[in-house]
Amino acid sequence: MMRVDIATLFPEMCQRVLDESILGRAAKRGHIETHCHQIRDYTLNRQKQVDDYPYGGGCGMVMNAQPIYDCCMDIIRQNEEQGRPRPHILFMTAAGQPFSEEKAKELAQYDNLLLVCGHYEGMDERVIEELADEEISIGDYVLTGGELAALVVADSVLRLQPGVLSQPEGYQDESHWNGLLEYPQYTRPEEWNGRKVPPVLLSGHHGKIEEWRRQQSLERTQKRRPDLYQKYKKEP
Ligand code: SAM
Repeated sequence: MMRVDIATLFPEMCQRVLDESILGRAAKRGHIETHCHQIRDYTLNRQKQVDDYPYGGGCGMVMNAQPIYDCCMDIIRQNEEQGRPRPHILFMTAAGQPFSEEKAKELAQYDNLLLVCGHYEGMDERVIEELADEEISIGDYVLTGGELAALVVADSVLRLQPGVLSQPEGYQDESHWNGLLEYPQYTRPEEWNGRKVPPVLLSGHHGKIEEWRRQQSLERTQKRRPDLYQKYKKEP
């Protein structure tokens, strides 16, 4: 059963998200385990300050290496006390490797992950060098903190764990699983606002439905994401 730890300045915010809905239910049923930790609890100064001015000048503050390191070492200890291996450690950074469904599938194979969130202008590079197995970016834009990025990674990896989704084969049809975007989906009523559900979906003919969905999936990908389509055509 996979365990995910998040080291952050906003553990309540992260834990609240993880305890909701599908992931929250999966945790209650014992299919996954999530823990969010306050980096500020590991500061050694009385003001509980976690950041300082950047060497060389420039705007903003940089998170100190020490509290992040001590927080991560404590999380590693807690994992080992549970008989687990040292977690695979991912630092959330805007300069990291781009995240994708392929990466989520790869990360889903680990027993345990530790996701580290920066804030302010980022983290002292030395703690990243010291601890990170990988640096991950969730996209080519800048967030105020790594929390949303860590939650994106945790959500997309944890939903792939056994027992989390009620119909696990469901995710194999979804966008990005096989390199294509998903076909359009419809539910009741058959007509809404003058728009009808494509008749083939009401036909009950599984072969034709499959074929229609495959065609829609290919057309959508070609139109909306020619980059993915080209890649799929080369290595389907
Ligand atoms: N100065 C950094 C830079 O230019 O790369 C950006 C720092 S950002 C304001 C603060 C924190 O948000 C980062 O330390 C990182 O943890 C997180 N963050 C921002 N954008 C991100 C992204 N695209 N993916 C993952 N984490 C991100």
